[in-house]
Amino acid sequence: MMKKSAWYKYDEKALSDVFHFNDDYKAFLSECKTERECTLSAVELAKKAGYMDLETCIQNNTSLKPGDKVYANNKDKNIALFIIGEEPIENGMNILGAHIDSPRIDLKQVPLYEDTEICLLDTHYYGGIKKYQWVALPLAMHGVVVKKDGTKVNVVIGEDDNDPVLGISDLLPHLAQTQMKKDAGSIIEGEDLNVTFGSMPSKDEEKEAVKANIKKLLKEKYDIEEEDFISAELEIVPAGKARDFGIDRSMVMGYGHDDRVCGYTSLRAILDTDTVKKTACCLLVDKEEVGSIGATGMQSKFFENTVAELINLTGDYNDLKLRRALTNSYMLSSDVSAGYDPNYPAVMERKNSAYLGYGPAFNKYTGARGKSGCNDASPEFIASLRKTMDDANISWQTAELGRVDQGGGGTIAYILANYNMQVIDCGVPVHNMHAPWEVCSKADIYEAYKGYLAFLKQA
Ligand code: MN
Ligand code: MN
Repeated sequence: MMKKSAWYKYDEKALSDVFHFNDDYKAFLSECKTERECTLSAVELAKKAGYMDLETCIQNNTSLKPGDKVYANNKDKNIALFIIGEEPIENGMNILGAHIDSPRIDLKQVPLYEDTEICLLDTHYYGGIKKYQWVALPLAMHGVVVKKDGTKVNVVIGEDDNDPVLGISDLLPHLAQTQMKKDAGSIIEGEDLNVTFGSMPSKDEEKEAVKANIKKLLKEKYDIEEEDFISAELEIVPAGKARDFGIDRSMVMGYGHDDRVCGYTSLRAILDTDTVKKTACCLLVDKEEVGSIGATGMQSKFFENTVAELINLTGDYNDLKLRRALTNSYMLSSDVSAGYDPNYPAVMERKNSAYLGYGPAFNKYTGARGKSGCNDASPEFIASLRKTMDDANISWQTAELGRVDQGGGGTIAYILANYNMQVIDCGVPVHNMHAPWEVCSKADIYEAYKGYLAFLKQA
């Protein structure tokens, strides 16, 4: 059953395609470190590729015909792109879904304080992180501050070479005797993830002079007041660009592969697709790392409502058409898999692990313990995918997330499956998942993209 690594099949031309595609991906990953940045970048790319804004189509009651391309931007935090197929939407869609939120550290609503003449920012982490990994490394701040009058101020600190970076301090080993006896989960506590923001006092102030100086800086540079943090969305992420990884440059190290690696490859697949028999969709969602809740998460009515609007603009709307469109659809719920790591063989079962370089991994089920919480894909659907992938000469593999009873995880698959559509989990294997810097194989990234292209063309 052991397959072969994708690297063996590439000739010189293919190899150059793999590396070029990954250059584009690295640029995306370096630029887009929040779900908001990913969504806005997707909107830009969609516009360039001739996509219409669904909102404008609705306002003008534009009738949509096969070949038309539209995108729906949900609050700048999640996006759906569609190519209208030759068949009616009620025959079902081919859907590529992935999430664009990643584990990180968010600022609290009242974050700014001074302690012992150091100004700090109080935070609340987002998603499943090993907190000890986020200290003593260069961090950046990305996000928006929305002022009372509705003005939106974009903030990116720590990415330009001339920018300062931020960070969270750790204890020196010399004084860490007590700390090092703690278990790894409590070495760094959630409330200790305080970002060092500055240390220079304002000469005009007597009380909290460092904080006063920073408030002055914020006013000058961004025209914001301390109270404006209340309506801000500021995310602390690792500072720096995605880089080639390994002396052979075969991998990419970057922040947020989970799950922008599937998000970007899905996005590129739909942007590089022209006409389709079945309506094609790429759905990039927020909030997966915290349970897919909220208006921009997968559990939101956004997707269903958007499909309803599409049906309305392609003909006469009725509820039955919507239900049929969803039920008759096929979906690749793409999310990263744990790549087999020779440093940690004990948590893996070799026959059912995802290997770097072997292409996207298809997971019949995810879940924990006795497959709890999983979407178990049907063998009929998997058989059809085997054919689609093999016919397109895609390198692909199958995997579970680690050994039985070792842990587990979930994705957005089960939420779409609630519409009674055919859904399977798949995605790119990752090393260091949820760490500040994650690693993926360039071959897997490219094969995922090619696999998604083939899937969207499925009749
Ligand atoms: Mn994920
Ligand atoms: Mn994750």
